[in-house]
Amino acid sequence: MNEGPRTVTAPRGTTVHAQGWPQEAALRMLQNNLDPEVAEHPDELVVYGGTGKAARDWPSFEALIRTLEHLKGDETMLVQSGRPVGVFQTHEWAPRVLLANSNLVGDWANWEEFRRLEALGLTMYGQMTAGSWIYIGTQGILQGTYETFAAVAAKRFDGDLAGTITLTAGLGGMGGAQPLAVTMNGGVALCVEVDESRIRRRIDQGYLGVMADSLDHALQLAEWAKRERKPLSIGLLGNAAEIHPKILARGVPIDIVTDQTSAHDPLAYLPMGVAFEDWKAEREKDPAAFTERARESMAKHVETMVAFSDNDAEVFDYGNSIRDEARKAGYSRAFDFPGFVPAYIRPLFCEGKGPFRWVALSGDPADIAVTDRAVLDLFPENEPLARWIRLAGEKVQFQGLPARICWLGYGERDKAGLRFNELVASGEVKAPIVIGRDHLDCGSVASPYRETESMLDGSDAIADWPLLNAMVNVASGASWVSIHHGGGVGMGRSIHAGQVSVADGTPLAAQKLERVLTNDPGMGVIRHVDAGYERASEVATERSVRVPMHEH
Ligand code: NAD
Repeated sequence: MNEGPRTVTAPRGTTVHAQGWPQEAALRMLQNNLDPEVAEHPDELVVYGGTGKAARDWPSFEALIRTLEHLKGDETMLVQSGRPVGVFQTHEWAPRVLLANSNLVGDWANWEEFRRLEALGLTMYGQMTAGSWIYIGTQGILQGTYETFAAVAAKRFDGDLAGTITLTAGLGGMGGAQPLAVTMNGGVALCVEVDESRIRRRIDQGYLGVMADSLDHALQLAEWAKRERKPLSIGLLGNAAEIHPKILARGVPIDIVTDQTSAHDPLAYLPMGVAFEDWKAEREKDPAAFTERARESMAKHVETMVAFSDNDAEVFDYGNSIRDEARKAGYSRAFDFPGFVPAYIRPLFCEGKGPFRWVALSGDPADIAVTDRAVLDLFPENEPLARWIRLAGEKVQFQGLPARICWLGYGERDKAGLRFNELVASGEVKAPIVIGRDHLDCGSVASPYRETESMLDGSDAIADWPLLNAMVNVASGASWVSIHHGGGVGMGRSIHAGQVSVADGTPLAAQKLERVLTNDPGMGVIRHVDAGYERASEVATERSVRVPMHEH
């Protein structure tokens, strides 16, 4: 048996290799996460987000595949941080897979202990959708990033980013969505990245426009496009901690600043003074010293972001914990700019809105076109959604299995899920559709530097909500459910849960989908009602979400 690195792609078409479509879906989605078109470093099983993995090691991967192929429709496989550890008889409403990734007990929940355990082969970093097998490439984050920049435009620039420059860094799996999200909103994006291969990959995938030869060249292009009010995205090879201060010093008119380097994991952030080629060796040689250097550079990076904010640029943390890393290096003004959730996203969370993504298991892009039309038909009054679906259809190149994402709220996700199940049943699409989401959702995460930053009632660090979310999804009939720790913000900073459900066209799937896709976003509504958000209370009343403490 081959138990080393190998090229993995998901099977396409209607031949089932497992004992049923839910198991087949898990099998294909695990493999799809490691497709070289999808994963950032497939040889190391790394999907995205620094070291976010789909399986602990290659023998575990092979065991996952083997077990999924033989798993019966009334059995459940248990996965502990990327390794299958048991199979139990359950029942047909139960999830086929339950996953727990990277969880550590509170006092031990730090990078040092995690890495010690990882080195012993006892755990892996699951990120959010890497270890829960529902990563769909950069498109997954594109829509959220597009919405965030649209919200920035609405707040500061009359609804349009034309004539503005956004400065950011990091063109990895998530960060690679930034340039396209900015240009889709009409603006100019200047993206600093230390790894040339990432810049080229984003250009190849149509997410990035051009690569500049030098800082001068990048600034010339950016200022020209700003003057001409033309959308343009520019990749610049360099270290953000070095380049950003130079841009600040030159007085370049930067309007918006954010960041998507892998700051949540100091070993995945390249410090100043370390050559890109030496990165791996340096961090392996002395992780503690490397962490310190990375944090010092992040302090410099964040200090520059604060200076841009002092100059009246719109500056926000994009969920990578760079502010806290800078604070750890002793920079006292690190939290002088907000995170993107309190700044732009929370009102959406109050309506149970969040990421709704789906994947065509047939592998046929025509199936996604059918589902796109179904979504447009279902929500004709939702103009921003229609604009997104149209733009995505034009601009997004699929990576791996064809997929789509949009944001839907409470009362919408279940409608879309049921419609997709009908499309499968009627043969309008060729094979079942997988429906899941990122863990960055309204009721599935506790993350005080991101999704639950500055909650109205101060409940930022209460982690009961994601656990309840996972349990309600298990109780409602999801196909696989996961509880993770760390995610996009790193060890000790978040607990979050995910669910994936399979629309295989059966009446049973319809019943499950209706419950899961109602109760899962319902968690967002009740979580925000509980925290005292008026809009969430209105939504609960309007859409009959039961909240016992508010019933009289
Ligand atoms: P990634 O590891 O795929 O990419 C990070 C990129 O940053 C790499 O290409 C790396 O070369 C580059 N980089 C590292 N140090 C740099 C430096 N000093 N200067 C310039 N470039 C540098 O990670 P990703 O998946 O793109 O995620 C980026 C960050 O965003 C992570 O911290 C992730 O956890 C977080 N995240 C945010 C969201 C969100 O919704 N906002 C969601 C998921 C993850």
